[in-house]
Amino acid sequence: MSGGDSDKPQMLDINISTDPILPGPHDISQSRAAGPTQPHLKLFPRTMQGDRKRAFNKSWYAQHQWLEHSASQDSAYCFTCRHFSLPGVQETSFTSPLGYSNWKKAMYKDGGFRAHEKSENHVNSMLAWSEHKRRILTYTSVLSVLDEKHQKLVEQNRAYIKTVAEVLLFTALQNISQRGHIETDASTNKGNFLGIMELIAKHSPLIDKKLKAVGNAKYTSNIIQNEILACLSDMVRESIISEVKENTFFSIIVDETKDLKKKEQLSIVLRYYYNGAVHESFLDFKQATELDKEGLTQKIIQCLERYGLEYRSNLVGQGYDGASVMSGRHSGVAASIRANAKHAFYVHCKAHCLNLVLVDSTKSVPESETFFSLLQKLYV
Ligand SMILES: [Zn+2]
Repeated sequence: MSGGDSDKPQMLDINISTDPILPGPHDISQSRAAGPTQPHLKLFPRTMQGDRKRAFNKSWYAQHQWLEHSASQDSAYCFTCRHFSLPGVQETSFTSPLGYSNWKKAMYKDGGFRAHEKSENHVNSMLAWSEHKRRILTYTSVLSVLDEKHQKLVEQNRAYIKTVAEVLLFTALQNISQRGHIETDASTNKGNFLGIMELIAKHSPLIDKKLKAVGNAKYTSNIIQNEILACLSDMVRESIISEVKENTFFSIIVDETKDLKKKEQLSIVLRYYYNGAVHESFLDFKQATELDKEGLTQKIIQCLERYGLEYRSNLVGQGYDGASVMSGRHSGVAASIRANAKHAFYVHCKAHCLNLVLVDSTKSVPESETFFSLLQKLYV
């Protein structure tokens, strides 16, 4: 919903893990991220070394952070030398597959662990390890800052697009046009949609900022307006259809008329019982190209099928004007629909009946007949 990819946290170019396949036992660290493997066994194996039996001591971990122990090998290893040594550095007993297991000399002042700690490679690898930890820490905090920023942007964009949608919904409900004749910045009247958006912007810094943003993410163009209106109409239609389905039975009211472009439009209205009352809800406009019985019947059935409305057994009524193509007892749409939906009783639209009554009434008054025929001539 925002300007583009620039809002997403970029992956930082920090190489935080390059884990080669290491020689040695499987039960010690296999990656830098894993950290040293320091098992606290209940009983470390005791082996005869020198004059007596000796074993690895878990208290050694505390003094040597880098120390790893493999239970399967009963050997010690150096975590940092294994993972952070420079390429080509010579292998020591702390990096070799067999590891170090001379427990007698392990804690000698100038041997074992301490001697290893003094080696140049170990010192370097310890530095590399601490640098690595510092970088991970920074990387994580940078990511979390980016993520927080991104999250905030997403929230703001959602609030903005919601406002755009609500203004469109308001203009649609009020049945007022969305667009103005001239929508440029210099225009004194940019139409209802932009006018209301600007009014809201006066009281909302967020909307103000987004509306004045440079670029193409304002979501105010006529194309976006139509897209959002289409989404909204889908939502309205979905809720109407779910109401109809909940109560199974429904009727249709269909009429045809020419639109401004002289194209024949079929308007389809559903009549159904829901929540204690009878509702009449507009379902769809369909352009009708074939105006004969078959063409119109197909259009109506296609429309019902498209919205998943089961007409064969659930359509219980159909209402049209008195035009013979719609209402004809044998040759009209009503009869055709009835052939597909046996319960769909035909009712001649009462409003059209009233219209016929009024036309006939006015015809019996000479003055009004003259008046209306004059109107007719003017129109023609
Ligand atoms: Zn080491």
